[in-house]
Amino acid sequence: MNAAPKPLRQFSDLDEAGLIPAEKRAALEQVAARYAIAITPAMEALIDRDDPNDPIARQFVPDPAELDVAPQERADPIGDHAHSPVEGIVHRYPDRVLLKLTHVCAVYCRFCFRREMIGPDAEPLTAAQLDAALGYIAAHPDIWEVVLTGGDPLVLSARRLRAVMARLGAIEHVKVIRVHSRVPIADPARITDELVAALKVDGKAIYVAAHANHARELTAAAREACARIVDAGIPMLSQSVLLAGINDDPQTLAALMRALVECRIKPYYLHHGDLAPGTAHLRTSLERGQALMRELRGRVSGLCQPTYVLDIPGGYGKSPVGPSYLSRDGEGRTQVEDFNGGLHCYPPKP
Ligand SMILES: *Cc1c(COP(=O)(O)O)cnc(C)c1O
Ligand code: SF4
Repeated sequence: MNAAPKPLRQFSDLDEAGLIPAEKRAALEQVAARYAIAITPAMEALIDRDDPNDPIARQFVPDPAELDVAPQERADPIGDHAHSPVEGIVHRYPDRVLLKLTHVCAVYCRFCFRREMIGPDAEPLTAAQLDAALGYIAAHPDIWEVVLTGGDPLVLSARRLRAVMARLGAIEHVKVIRVHSRVPIADPARITDELVAALKVDGKAIYVAAHANHARELTAAAREACARIVDAGIPMLSQSVLLAGINDDPQTLAALMRALVECRIKPYYLHHGDLAPGTAHLRTSLERGQALMRELRGRVSGLCQPTYVLDIPGGYGKSPVGPSYLSRDGEGRTQVEDFNGGLHCYPPKP
């Protein structure tokens, strides 16, 4: 019997798996020395080695273009540091905080906005730091929601998650706990009944927001993992990143959103690519993103519509940047555009 397949974590693993073309060797060795790598067996199995533009490979296999850092790119693209009152907490909006328990992920996405902060070597939150982070939440009654992120919180054991959830559950003013994770899709075998049970806390609303960027990621195993979560009474949302050459065409985006909705996952955000170092080759323009959102609006069910958002560089938070359907005609009258591009006047309020 073969041993269970292992994630690819090093340059040498990728090399043995046939994912390092000879002509890119030297450059990719440099990329691997700089940024974390992990590809789970579930994601590796999806890579089509005959397709040089395979959308799964593009997300996880390093690219020499990562060595090109554009002047506008930054180590902390969305300004987390400026809003971090204690280690592990980011408090940007009044009613909600991020709680980052770990810097480890199941897979490392080449476009990751926290790529300078995450990886297997980054220090996890210590017990004392976790106490301080939970103390901060307990001391701020305006915090209505806690978003577990990282890194990926679902790489933690069920035992550790259960303990953190119980402590959050004991904070009266926290009503909602949201878990942001790539694991249900990238490493679905981790979503055991025990792990799902560990996420549930009496008296709190728990949500899981899964990260997926291409319909092919929603394999049978991923769909089963998501069904385990939803069947346990935990609603699911999705987050996707708009990525050049991966999902920046209308058919691919529509297929992704439909696949999510079929899994009872409500598309929540489509993120414009952040200015993370060495990711320019994976970013699109805002105009392209708006055009794609327009096509999606005309093409697929309202259930399949995410909000297109930009995290404003510097720490100012997220803003919706989708297209507007309202405009004015030559005489200043309000007009609204329909899904076919037709314009219709709308009367002013008398
Ligand atoms: C993205 C983010 C959130 C969550 O924002 P929502 O719009 O509620 O999904 C919360 N805090 C910080 C610091 C964030 O970056
Ligand atoms: S799973 Fe999220 S935090 Fe981890 S590498 Fe991917 S984008 Fe970054």
